[in-house]
Amino acid sequence: MSPALRCYRCGERYGGATRVRCECGEPLWFETDATEFDWADRRERDGVWRYEPLLPIDRPSGLARAAGGTPLVRSEGLDAAAGCRVYVKDEGEHPTGAYKDRGSAVAVPRATAAGDGAVGTVSYGNMAMSTAAHAAGLGRECVVLVPDDISSVRLELIGQYEPTIVRVDGDYGALYGDALELSAALPVRFLVSDDPARIGGYKTALFEICEAFAPDAPDAPDAPDAPDAIVMPTSSGGFASGIWRGIRDLEAAGLLDDPPRLHLVQTAASDPITRAFDAGETDPTPLTPDETGETIAHSIGNPDPPSGARALAAVRDTGGAVVSVTDDEIRAAKRRFAVDGGFCVEPASAASLAGATRLSERGEIAADDVVVLVPTGTGFKELGTGDASDANHAPAPGSTERASRAALPKRLASVLGAR
Ligand SMILES: *Cc1c(COP(=O)(O)O)cnc(C)c1O
Ligand SMILES: [Zn+2]
Repeated sequence: MSPALRCYRCGERYGGATRVRCECGEPLWFETDATEFDWADRRERDGVWRYEPLLPIDRPSGLARAAGGTPLVRSEGLDAAAGCRVYVKDEGEHPTGAYKDRGSAVAVPRATAAGDGAVGTVSYGNMAMSTAAHAAGLGRECVVLVPDDISSVRLELIGQYEPTIVRVDGDYGALYGDALELSAALPVRFLVSDDPARIGGYKTALFEICEAFAPDAPDAPDAPDAPDAIVMPTSSGGFASGIWRGIRDLEAAGLLDDPPRLHLVQTAASDPITRAFDAGETDPTPLTPDETGETIAHSIGNPDPPSGARALAAVRDTGGAVVSVTDDEIRAAKRRFAVDGGFCVEPASAASLAGATRLSERGEIAADDVVVLVPTGTGFKELGTGDASDANHAPAPGSTERASRAALPKRLASVLGAR
């Protein structure tokens, strides 16, 4: 039996669990009764299924079992750049390289269990790859709607799972609404960014972070019982909504006295949530094409975020902030992630560090704050696409030396002696 859906804003409750949005217009999430949950109730299982009592489905088999369980790493090398005590929750270490797998692991099996139609999504990035992979793992047909001018690299990344890819000519942004209508009319269920089951999967990232800091955790003896803040990139607001849902579950369970502040980072090229935050508004105003620009942070460019108002509510509820960062700041942060931490993150994910830097400068993050940065996706997919190596902004590469084999000992001695 599936739990009911509830609106975070007006409180309306819906029993039939196929809706995505409330009558009031806001996205819904699954109701969970977390009041009885204790860390002792977690299962001896991997990944997101460790928190099965708080999820809307029972553990499926196959690829879904590979979601979650990503490392949380204390990364002192990044402290100077971020201006605080940094932990990195590396969501790039997922089967398809992004946190989206947490949502797909719950939403795709749930949709396939509910009927024998296809699943689908509207994305030409990480959401598309993740949905297609999880559908493939269940032997289920998948339909992916992409824009007509999609790059060949992206087609290859998504196409390897052999979904039906439809290149759509026309206003790609409007497809979010179309997809919900198509789900109602055809034997396909489109799992968009704020699908309630996805949000249910995303909250496990917060559980994992807080479990690592829980008072009896073996790995963090000097750390507080919860991080002071979480800094993550935001586009549609789906992941941020999941993190907030997780915070609320743990609060209801009495396991989180002092919840982390949720800080969200947008690209300055398309930042409707930051604008609404700065203006003190509850609902982001969709940006027109004139108000948006190009960015290397492709994964966070949504000008009309479906969960934007909910993400703002999350930020205000936890005492956080929303900031925007430029592509130059993102490039610099991507380099720091690699050079100072050893992490290969995609530009959208590097925005987490760029945002932390800004928030420290603004005094919203203190030097002794324990802050979890969430690089949401791996940088491996973006290599060779030319996106991040624009000649004018290319980060200085590590020094390249050349030597004949015979001259190698001398050459190395001089390189190493030069330190
Ligand atoms: C999807 C995505 C985001 C944005 O997540 P939202 O839920 O749309 O806010 C950020 N980073 C990466 C790598 C993503 O794939
Ligand atoms: Zn409502």
